[in-house]
Amino acid sequence: MERFFGRVEGEKAYISPDKAHHLVRVLRAKKGDKIEIADTGELYLCEIKSLDPLDITVLESLYKPKPLPFTVVLAFALLKGGHDELVLQKGTELGVNEFAPYISSRTIIRLDQKDKEKRQSRFEKIVLSSCEQCKRIDVPKVDEILSFDKMTDMKFDHAFFAYEGLSHESFNLAAEAAKVKEGERVLLIVGPEGGFDEKEVNLATKKGLTPVSLGQRILRAETASIYMASVFSFLGESKE
Ligand code: SAH
Repeated sequence: MERFFGRVEGEKAYISPDKAHHLVRVLRAKKGDKIEIADTGELYLCEIKSLDPLDITVLESLYKPKPLPFTVVLAFALLKGGHDELVLQKGTELGVNEFAPYISSRTIIRLDQKDKEKRQSRFEKIVLSSCEQCKRIDVPKVDEILSFDKMTDMKFDHAFFAYEGLSHESFNLAAEAAKVKEGERVLLIVGPEGGFDEKEVNLATKKGLTPVSLGQRILRAETASIYMASVFSFLGESKE
């Protein structure tokens, strides 16, 4: 059965014009056909009552989201060569609830305000198409692109920043992650290809963010993001 992201208001469901075109013209939907509409984490069974004008009527709610054990926000530095798009796609598949793209002192690319807005809307498209692929109905939020300083000011119950300088120190991520309780908000921060500079590490530590090692090897930034998202996906799924 076809599934679309849309908006449900009372008895009626609405989809965007390009999705409506796809449904009617490409999929050649018929009056009486059933489709699923996902709207902010809820899934509804709907019926096409008429094609022109398109009338989609809600029959029943199919799925209520089970409360997520905790909310994961993944802060990633903009990366070259579209690697940050990989972070968004894999992070979405792994259940990340919110993405906080940021620019740090060693971020290799430089963007003006227009570029930032263009990039943010491309990020939102990647997240949405990843939700469609992995059948996820709660669409993660993509924040505006911030500076490192502004991003580290966000409020969280726990904030872990993966610091490559700890790679030969003791592996503390398991112990730190175990402290996260149901319903809390967790910020996971990964640096750019060039890593964090001294100033950023001191600032983050001063603000009470916890530096964590991801093990002995130096991972690529996109690998580190996927790694951290996997850890919290594993922990989230394991909580009954
Ligand atoms: N250029 C740096 C590596 C940066 S790796 C160097 O050669 O040292 C990119 C980001 O991935 C880092 O900023 C960090 O956030 C994360 N990362 C990679 N490996 C890590 C590790 N073993 N421990 C903690 N963080 C790591």
